[in-house]
Formats: sequence, C-alpha cells, structure tokens
Amino acid sequence: MDFEKYDITAPDADLKKDGKTAEVSFEDTEIAFSSKSDADLRRAYLLFKVIGNGTMTALGKYATQFALWLRLPIKGMVKATIFKQFVGGETIPACAPTIAMLDKYNIGTILDYSVEGRVDEKELDANMEKILETAELSASNASIPYCVFKVSGLAKNKILEKVSRDAKLTEKEARMHRNAVNRVDTICRKTFEAGTAVFIDAEESWIQPAIDRIAEEMMRKYNRKRAIVHNTVQMYRHDRLAHLLEQHQKAKDGGYYYGVKIVRGAYMEKERERAREKGYPDPIQPDKESTDRDFNAAVVYCIENLDRIEFCAGTHNEESCMLLAAELVRHGYARNDRRAYSAQLLGMSDHISFNLSAAGFNVAKYVPFGPVREVMPYLIRRAEENTSVSGQTGRELGLIVREIKRRRKVRT
Ligand SMILES: Cc1cc2nc3c(=O)[nH]c(=O)nc-3n(C[C@H](O)[C@H](O)[C@H](O)COP(=O)(O)OP(=O)(O)OC[C@H]3O[C@@H](n4cnc5c(N)ncnc54)[C@H](O)[C@@H]3O)c2cc1C
Repeated sequence: MDFEKYDITAPDADLKKDGKTAEVSFEDTEIAFSSKSDADLRRAYLLFKVIGNGTMTALGKYATQFALWLRLPIKGMVKATIFKQFVGGETIPACAPTIAMLDKYNIGTILDYSVEGRVDEKELDANMEKILETAELSASNASIPYCVFKVSGLAKNKILEKVSRDAKLTEKEARMHRNAVNRVDTICRKTFEAGTAVFIDAEESWIQPAIDRIAEEMMRKYNRKRAIVHNTVQMYRHDRLAHLLEQHQKAKDGGYYYGVKIVRGAYMEKERERAREKGYPDPIQPDKESTDRDFNAAVVYCIENLDRIEFCAGTHNEESCMLLAAELVRHGYARNDRRAYSAQLLGMSDHISFNLSAAGFNVAKYVPFGPVREVMPYLIRRAEENTSVSGQTGRELGLIVREIKRRRKVRT
C-alpha cells in the first residue's frame, strides 16, 4: 500500500480532492458548547486554567491524594470540579443525565468503569460484573454504541506479562489466566447478544501480546457477521501499522471481520523509560510526526477496507478527525455509516465531538464512572496530560474564551 500519497503535511490538498469536502469546522464554538450553560463554561475555564499550571497540578495531585488518604471531607470539592468535568458519575444510574445530554446532540456514550489496580480474583470478578452491567444497558439504550474494558482490570498484570513473553506458567497461574480469558469471553458474548460492540483497550507493550492474543481469539469467535469485538492499536509504536495490516489479513483469511480502535497511545514516557532501563530497543516512534503519519495512514487504510473492517479513531487530534470525515465523504460512504466512528473523552475536545456530530458523523464519548476515590488515578492522568498550556489546554481555553465573548456580544 502506498502511504506516501497521504501526505499529512498537506491535509487540505488531500481533503479537497475531487472538490468534495466534509464541510465541517472545528472553529464553531456555538455548536461546540451548545450543551454548556454560562456557569458550566466559567467552571471549565477556571478548571483548565488551574490544570494548565504544572505546579498547581503537581501540588493538587499530592494534596488531594493526601486528603483522601486522611479521609478529609474533600470529596464534595473534587466532585464539584474536576470530577464534574471529566466523569459521568459514581455509578451507572448517576451517568444517566450525561448519557441523555450527549444523546440530545446525537453523540453516543461509552461507559468506562475507571477503577484501577484491583488484583485478587474476587475483585477481578467484581470488575467484570460492572462491565457486564454496561453491556446490559447498551442492549436497551441506542445511545450506547460500544462498551469498553481493560484486560488488566480482569487479569493479573504479572500473568499477562509472563504470557506475553511466552514464559511457562505455574498450574495456579494457568488456572488464573483461564479465568481471565473467561471473563473477557463473558463480556464479549454479552455485547454480542446485546447487538452492540466492545473495545478492548490497549496497554503497556510488555502485556500487549497477551491482550492481542485474547482479542484475536474473541474476534474469531464473535466477528463472523460484523465486527463486535474491537482490539486497540497504538500508533506511537513503530510496529503497529504493520500489525494492523497483518490483523486485517488474518481476519480476511479466517473469514471474520476486523474491529479496531486506533489511538496514538497513552504510556509513552513509561515505555521509553522501561526500554532504557532494561536496555531493549525503544518500541516508540522516533518523533510525533511519525506517530501522526501512521495514525492517519491507519484511518485511511480502514476506510479503504470498510467492507471487512469496522473502526473507531480515539483521538483529540483535529487533523486526524478531519481526515476521517473527509475520506469517508470522498469514498461516498454515508457520514453515519456505523463502521466508522471517532471518539473523544468526556470533558475534552467538545469542539471536535459536537461539530462532527452536528455535521452528521458518528461520534461517541468515553464517559468514565466510579467512586471518587477510585477514579482519582484517571483524573490525575487527565490533569497531567492537560498541563501544557501550549497544547490541549491552550486550545480548550482559547475556545472557551471565544464562546464566552461570543455569547456576551449576542446579548448586547
Ligand atoms: C476514545 C479514546 C480511547 C482511548 N483509548 C486508549 C487505549 O485503549 N490505549 C491507549 O494507550 N490510549 C488510549 N487513548 C489515549 C490516546 O492514546 C492518546 O494518549 C490521547 O488521545 C492523545 O492523543 P491524540 O490522538 O488525542 O492527540 P495528539 O495530541 O495529536 O497526540 C498526542 C499523542 O501523540 C504521541 N506522541 C507525542 N509526542 C510524541 C513523540 N515525541 N514521539 C512519538 N509519539 C508522540 C503520544 O501518543 C501522545 O499521547 C484513548 C483516547 C481516546 C480519546
């Protein structure tokens, strides 16, 4: 396949090929923030302003963890601020208003049970039960197109790592691994029966081979008529575009559909550090441009092969989202063809989600849920990845300010 023709340095030239454009703008702040009251906008402004300050975020991280550890009554404060911005609620029923709000704007919800770091068999079973509840709800709620889970929430990391390096498992470990595969199977079967679909999140490279193997087994089993099970491919890894092509070929040969969520990848620093420490080659691309090139090539490849692939681009990158929209239109597919989605996280990049959806494209939001204390690691990650004012936070702040000014002008 000739990826050279998708020159991401000149996306406009490619997007306007044949005079067809996706007619979507990410600059329309009125659409982007149509779900937000003035008070919501002010709260979001203050929040991004605070987390845009690296020192404040670092201080806040330790102060909050310390206060929660001391059981100080700060839950209310967390709930009214960062939790409200990025999380649907503490329980599934508590997410109902968020699901309904998104649905009003034709945006799907992907309920993400964001409790991490549980390890004993009972806790892993409890995690599975929670994910099964989301699958059950998806059966009766058309605004939930996908479920999602992390294999590390259903299995012991140590065992996933051993399986990934083909190390011999003890009898007990082998039994525990079978339990983990059964948990994954139970969830995939449930989404299959619900008539929806499921994403298996991608994780660290040293446990990913085990996850990939389980995902392939599930796709072979449940993707006979359409792609129910979607594995995730991280394009910050230099070997993943080839992996995606290989997985697609395997699916074709095996007579099943390939389901894939394409992301850039969330563990870059950790990956680089471990490779350095242990002295093996860095699995990450040499630079951001290479990650972007492979991400965009993957989007184009999926659209060119939509007869056997269903995919979702999980990204806040405007260029990649625009490329997805433009390529879909250029190939003559319906904008809401169920085989092509993009997804963003709740509380981030509403200018992409709301504008794409208003233009008729399929969009969904990851809506995390869980008790305040348990979703803290997720919230801290969101705060930390937003600390660069030159990056995501600057963009979010700029758009919020523009919308506040636009509303003021309309009223005068
Ligand atoms: C709906 C959804 C689902 C997700 N699911 C997963 C998942 O299952 N697994 C997972 O790991 N992540 C997942 N993510 C997170 C994702 O991988 C990214 O970390 C995040 O979305 C930022 O990337 P971007 O495409 O939005 O935007 P951008 O801001 O354009 O890209 C930032 C990303 O580029 C890459 N990058 C940055 N600098 C460099 C560099 N110097 N060299 C190489 N690469 C670089 C990194 O991956 C970084 O996160 C998900 C995100 C979303 C929105």
